[in-house]
Amino acid sequence: MDNVWKKYVDNREELEKFCDGYKEFLSTCKTERECIKFAIKKAQAAGYRSLADLLKTNTKLSAGDKVYAVNMNKAMVLFCVGKQPIEAGINIIGSHIDSPRIDLKATPAYESTGFCLFDTHYYGGIKKYQWTALPLAMHGVVIKKDGKSIELSIGENADDPVLGISDLLPHLDNRPENKYKEVKGEDLNVLAASIPDANAEKDKVKATILNILKEKGIEEADFFSAEIEMVPAGHARDFGLDRSMIMGYGQDDRVCAYASLMAMLEVEKPEFSTMCLLVDKEEIGSVGATGMGSMYCENVLAEFMNLAGQYSELSLRRALNRSRMLSSDVTAAVDPNNLAPFNITTDAHFGKGLSFNKYNGRFGKSGSNDANPEFIGVLRAIMDEAEVVYQATEMGRVDEGGGGTIAYIMAKYGMDVIDAGVPVLNMHAPWEITSKADIYEAYRGYKAFYNSKK
Ligand code: MN
Ligand code: MN
Repeated sequence: MDNVWKKYVDNREELEKFCDGYKEFLSTCKTERECIKFAIKKAQAAGYRSLADLLKTNTKLSAGDKVYAVNMNKAMVLFCVGKQPIEAGINIIGSHIDSPRIDLKATPAYESTGFCLFDTHYYGGIKKYQWTALPLAMHGVVIKKDGKSIELSIGENADDPVLGISDLLPHLDNRPENKYKEVKGEDLNVLAASIPDANAEKDKVKATILNILKEKGIEEADFFSAEIEMVPAGHARDFGLDRSMIMGYGQDDRVCAYASLMAMLEVEKPEFSTMCLLVDKEEIGSVGATGMGSMYCENVLAEFMNLAGQYSELSLRRALNRSRMLSSDVTAAVDPNNLAPFNITTDAHFGKGLSFNKYNGRFGKSGSNDANPEFIGVLRAIMDEAEVVYQATEMGRVDEGGGGTIAYIMAKYGMDVIDAGVPVLNMHAPWEITSKADIYEAYRGYKAFYNSKK
């Protein structure tokens, strides 16, 4: 398959413009809530109206109308009514906006050896040692008993302080067999302060932290009703001397979320209805009310169909059953420094475009959604017609690789689903890497899929 860069070497402007927007998004949206806030703003600017508002006024929807619904500020469904009846099926693209990170516990603050620290519980699959000895920013919300919400974002501005998890010097880390100490989950404690409060009777450094929080209106007990995420501090930036790549936090799966959202916002009067799903909790099994496993998407689709005068229980079932979906999640790119787990002829490469994983289970395809060739045939025609460069890939060598996405959940409705995303290096590490060419090609592929008349 051709290298995507062939198309863009003398023609990088649009691609770079798109990636500038993406870097800005990555740099400012590091939690689910920040992503949803961004998406609502963009959706409204593109003419999307909120389902909650439409329900209040009982406003009818017709072909070409755009509507969005927000689930607990952490997940979102965007919908554009097609010319065909909704029960003819929907072109759906679904991605997740949660990323691996370090969450504060509900009673996090404690004092040890002259420091105040925050106790944490990591979120998602991380290699724990990668999260020590680097600057972390504190993002999140604290909800007071009266429902008031206090937003936190500390560590992103140049003059903000950062926090972090300390690690041993190599001199004191010479364990038997020359192995370094394994970082355990309970070792991931965030250093937050070191000045004792002279007026406090005990836990003097912790008192300092509590004073600082009090200035923001936060009491120690408020941590119980808070969502505070420690994430790598700093901006996404160009990677490589040729600036061909992007390094940034949370690209799994915000790269696909951004590309599919931007594609969705450009859809006007589609043949089939289109839907963009931004969901939470994929990294911990798609569970919970804001994960793909919840009924939320189905419920709001019923609302959309009702406002369009097209609802019946049977029409809803038909719409879901006849839909086609790109589960837009990232895949592992072949890593030149770590070739062992890859099959370099069948795995994804940077610069080869949008990556389709027909299946991605492990140990005999176990747990995977194995996409139907009839559906893939249609997708090949759509991609080729739009001159989108894509690659047919797997994730790692047989019996070594594998992973899960939201594909299998939507497949339960009987719809056609395939994984289609951007290859990533350093996946789940604090700083992940993607290829600009693949990002742009994914966006173009998503747009072609939404606008498909097939
Ligand atoms: Mn993912
Ligand atoms: Mn992941």
